Amino acid sequence: MGRLQKILIPLLGLVLAFWFYSARDAFKPEMLRGKRVIVTGASTGIGEQIAYHLARMGSHILITARTEARLQKVVRRCLELGAASAQFVSGTMEDMAFAQHVVREAQTSLGGLDMLILNHVGASYFGFFDGDVEHVRKLLEINFLSYVAMTTSALPMLKESEGSIVVVSSMAGKVGFPFTVPYSATKFALDGFFSSLRQEFSIQNINVSITLCILGFIDTERAVRAAAEVLRERPAPRDECALEILKGAALRRRELYYRYSSTRLPLLLRDCAAELLDYLVRSRYR
Ligand code: NAP
Repeated sequence: MGRLQKILIPLLGLVLAFWFYSARDAFKPEMLRGKRVIVTGASTGIGEQIAYHLARMGSHILITARTEARLQKVVRRCLELGAASAQFVSGTMEDMAFAQHVVREAQTSLGGLDMLILNHVGASYFGFFDGDVEHVRKLLEINFLSYVAMTTSALPMLKESEGSIVVVSSMAGKVGFPFTVPYSATKFALDGFFSSLRQEFSIQNINVSITLCILGFIDTERAVRAAAEVLRERPAPRDECALEILKGAALRRRELYYRYSSTRLPLLLRDCAAELLDYLVRSRYR
């Protein structure tokens, strides 16, 4: 029995490693050609870069955020880069009716939907929790409830296309982070909702994939402005991050970690050495 275990465990490890790495390599940009995709929070940052990658791959893109002038520029650039089509709807995700309206736009103008990329994030503060409950409620509406509202509205179209939902989250949605308490709470909520929904899809044989993206520190303007001074680590490039998100989505992976070394690896400690992980998180700050 002991000898069998000695052989079986490394063998299982090898099979899992082979499966994992072969799945990573199977991505081809053609997978997203002609696909109808909504990208939220696409006026800047990671969402903007996701839109440009989709454009190069020849997708139909519908982007959204609040700032119309920025969205116009991103749409123009997407068309230059080769998007099959590109358009925007501007408005705020504080308003659930707007969140549902964006999805209806995809129905009307694209005739359906293959991928829903939920990426927008509301402004919050960087510092000790200040006790402002109203701010937590508002952030939950933008960062969580609007994701739920869009998913619910988009589900009939995604079921029809056997499409994908991509949820952009954070290390702060997997382990407690100081100085971003309201933000972290909204990201944990996303994990609870979408990981549970994935289970129900599996039980009901609904062929819609859900990819939860766990990101570390990325070099977007907002994040660098808020945290570069206080974090010891260097941010990862947003264009590479955006491409990794799309690869994970196209391959229908359940979770995507970027960068792997600063997200997945430390999280391995969560169950066996939670206090050490907490310490490592705190030691990231100056
Ligand atoms: P960003 O550059 O600040 O972009 C946020 C986007 O959301 C913008 O397009 C913004 O556009 C939009 N937005 C903000 N408030 C909105 C509202 N009320 N209604 C509708 N849209 C709104 O952020 P990012 O750094 O690219 O982050 C993108 C995603 O990655 C987020 O989910 C974030 O949590 C996650 N993430 C980022 C990092 C990082 O280090 N950058 C790390 C972990 C996870 P308007 O202002 O024009 O509305």
